[in-house]
Amino acid sequence: MSKFRFSAVQKAQGRKPIEVKELGRRSDFFGINVFNERTMVQYLSKEAFKGVKYAVDNGKKIDRKIASQVAAAMKDWAISKGVTHYTHWFQPLTGATAEKHDAFFEVTENNMAIEAFAGSALVQQEPDASSFPSGGIRNTFEARGYTAWDPTSPAFIYGTTLCIPTIFVSYTGEALDYKTPLLRALSALDDAATAVCKYFDKNVKKVNASLGWEQEYFLIDKSIAFSRPDIILAGRTLLGHSSAKGQQLDDHYFGSIPSRAISFMRELENECMLVGIPIKTRHNEVAPNQFEVAPINEEANLAVDHNALLMDIMGRVASKHNFKVLFHEKPFEGVNGSSKHNNWSLTTDTGINLLGPGKTPMSNLQFLTFFINTIKAVLSYEELLGASIASAGNEHRLGKKEAPPSIMSIFIGEQLTKVLNDLESVTDGKLSPEEKTDLKLNVVGKIPDVLLDNTDRNRTSPFAFTGNKFEFRAVGSSANCANPMTVLNTIVAKQLQDFKTEVDKLIDNKSFKKDEAIFNVLREYIKSSKSILFEGNGYSDEWEKEAKKRKLSNYKTAPEALKEKISKKAISLFEELNVMSKIEVEARYEIEVEEYTKRIQIESRVLGDIAGNHVVPTAVHYQNMLIKNVKGLKEIFGNDFEQHALQQIRLIKNISDHIESIHKKVDEMLEERKKANKIKDFSKKANAYCVKVKPFLDAIRYHCDKLEIMVDDEMWTLTKYRELLFTR
Ligand code: ADP
Ligand code: MG
Repeated sequence: MSKFRFSAVQKAQGRKPIEVKELGRRSDFFGINVFNERTMVQYLSKEAFKGVKYAVDNGKKIDRKIASQVAAAMKDWAISKGVTHYTHWFQPLTGATAEKHDAFFEVTENNMAIEAFAGSALVQQEPDASSFPSGGIRNTFEARGYTAWDPTSPAFIYGTTLCIPTIFVSYTGEALDYKTPLLRALSALDDAATAVCKYFDKNVKKVNASLGWEQEYFLIDKSIAFSRPDIILAGRTLLGHSSAKGQQLDDHYFGSIPSRAISFMRELENECMLVGIPIKTRHNEVAPNQFEVAPINEEANLAVDHNALLMDIMGRVASKHNFKVLFHEKPFEGVNGSSKHNNWSLTTDTGINLLGPGKTPMSNLQFLTFFINTIKAVLSYEELLGASIASAGNEHRLGKKEAPPSIMSIFIGEQLTKVLNDLESVTDGKLSPEEKTDLKLNVVGKIPDVLLDNTDRNRTSPFAFTGNKFEFRAVGSSANCANPMTVLNTIVAKQLQDFKTEVDKLIDNKSFKKDEAIFNVLREYIKSSKSILFEGNGYSDEWEKEAKKRKLSNYKTAPEALKEKISKKAISLFEELNVMSKIEVEARYEIEVEEYTKRIQIESRVLGDIAGNHVVPTAVHYQNMLIKNVKGLKEIFGNDFEQHALQQIRLIKNISDHIESIHKKVDEMLEERKKANKIKDFSKKANAYCVKVKPFLDAIRYHCDKLEIMVDDEMWTLTKYRELLFTR
């Protein structure tokens, strides 16, 4: 092992778990740094509390007077906890979270200092936002954007700062963040789903989407991570020969968690508890040094904020524990990458999970209504759902026989397949009283409230029904959940609107009874949605062929998939449901496509540097040693030397070949980059990066990895896979 690598590994192995301060019972300190209802009752007048609650429950604005009271209360509460600053906390389209801290501290006219926080500062701010991506919405002379308080996600204290979740919009009102369209989608879904719920229960006044994400990640010792420029700059390894042992033995999954990792997790969980993220689950994942953390599901907007906050907290806590946390979808070749399953369901304000089978035929009919409408929505917009999870990182993961394919399909399990088949055979038109009774008792009434298929659910499906929720598994680990959640909730909202229109038409025009009309429409949906249902192995080649026959889209690259975001169909959907305007849709498309380009550009530069500065010099160095050796052999054996130096000579030649190929390919890659950079159209540019530049990454890596296994281990400067994956 080279001295450099040895010292990194030695440092890592010498580390002890960092001691974590225990905070007592979790239920006692859960949410104590959140300005939640409990705190509000303590700090707000009755009138102000009612005002906030009304605004939150009904998605209404909070009036100025109440805002001032809330601000004063927040300030008092925060200061009592040692807080000095406040910030509007938002999620610009970089995917990360953004904050700009201001002190409560103010100087008055008579030069006295006070702590102040005005209602206006709570409600709205104007950060200089010109450096955030806007997709051309704000041209430079009108660079202002503003952040506006989102009272549906409570303020919280992190460190000594009061964080106020906000939306981020341009001066002309266009969304510049992930949250704004999500809130609009959730509101559209609420309206559409509540209207459908009224068929079953007139008391339902609100439907919330709920989300429970499962965050996968890698933990790599800090010294080891910092020994790799590719991990630091690109978030993933761009080269590295696979280690003799990887995940073949399946000995990491659910294994005992290494002690340093456990310390990290405990501190992470404590921090999460304080800010109200209800973390529940932790375990080892499939790949070595890969783990997962998951909370109890929450209302979708809050869950999205909590996931963004979690990722931020993870980075900080990891650093304290001398780790680097990797969120990239594919940090290491040859072992599994990371995802972020999005578990999604719908709940009413009356406490019913609309995607959970009930105990009576009527509640089961309600379940089937939402279940089948979701299936239909996914079929109608499968390409858009696929686009919602497309990114440079996820491109590595999807369809690589470790993650769902890039083809959207739904797994529902044996029992529900049977229920749908039975429903499909319902008589067309009006039902006789006997038929109705039979249907209710023997089909709808027979759905058990716990579905068996959950135990052996199909892991190869991108969108699986898992008993009382759908699990969208194609989401990448580094993604902001708002993107897929906006699309999913929008398409389901649209579908539920269409459903209601169709059912009402049957009731009005043909004087069908309500349940008759519902059965009829559902039956037609079952018939027309079959092509999205798939119970088989999503990794198989047969499925790809079959999916093609079924006309399901299968985009292998992110630029192709992303194009679906600006199709006429997508734009009219978003406009119709008031989720995004055409300008907003196009701006996002531009930002995401440009991000793709930039990521590949960075990777290409980093690999060029590493190949030129690490790999080639090391190989040359070793080759010189071999040459010296061959010369020495010649001195000793004279003309006979060749039979003693066969291997060395072969190696010298091989090394020359690989070096030659690396030089050639790095130069060619550079040329392709230059050409791509000249392309003005951002979409064509991304395509050039995808088709012309990206293939060089693999080609160059191939030669570098070959050299890695030829060159003397003592000379190789780059930390190897076995050290990256197995040091703990
Ligand atoms: P897995 O076996 O895939 O890990 P779990 O049953 O442990 O599945 O649940 C995983 C996630 O599903 C958790 O984040 C949990 O909060 C979430 N979840 C459970 N029920 C629901 C629901 N009704 N709606 C949304 N998410 C849910
Ligand atoms: Mg899961």
